[in-house]
Amino acid sequence: MRIERFGRCNCGRVVVSARGEPVRVGVCHCLNCRRQSGSPFLAYAVWPLAAVTVEGETITWQGPLIVRHFCPVCGSMVWDSDSASDEIEIPLGLFDDAPTDLRPDHECWTVRREKWLKPIDGARQYLRDRTSGDRAG
Ligand SMILES: [Zn+2]
Ligand SMILES: [Zn+2]
Repeated sequence: MRIERFGRCNCGRVVVSARGEPVRVGVCHCLNCRRQSGSPFLAYAVWPLAAVTVEGETITWQGPLIVRHFCPVCGSMVWDSDSASDEIEIPLGLFDDAPTDLRPDHECWTVRREKWLKPIDGARQYLRDRTSGDRAG
């Protein structure tokens, strides 16, 4: 049986579903993710675009190398994507099952990690971006 995970924004106008296991699961401590989430880091899971369905209209913010989508009513961030990517990132906080069964396999921008946070056991550590070329961090 193929697994499917469901998530939604706070007001329920935007609903996401992701089929199959994610390609990777990560935590990012960069300034962009910090400001975006209002939290010291953003945890997310990545799927191929074709594995994800988003229902409901979103508004977008185009940042450096990234487009972020929000619910226009409640402001929840519902997904983002690198401009040139065929993958989609969904914040772990969006999923209905909390806690999720997803565990980060990597951490980005550890130079920005809060001093009171420890590296996640077994997660690959990247000082900055996972790929070459630094996002505005
Ligand atoms: Zn909403
Ligand atoms: Zn980030």
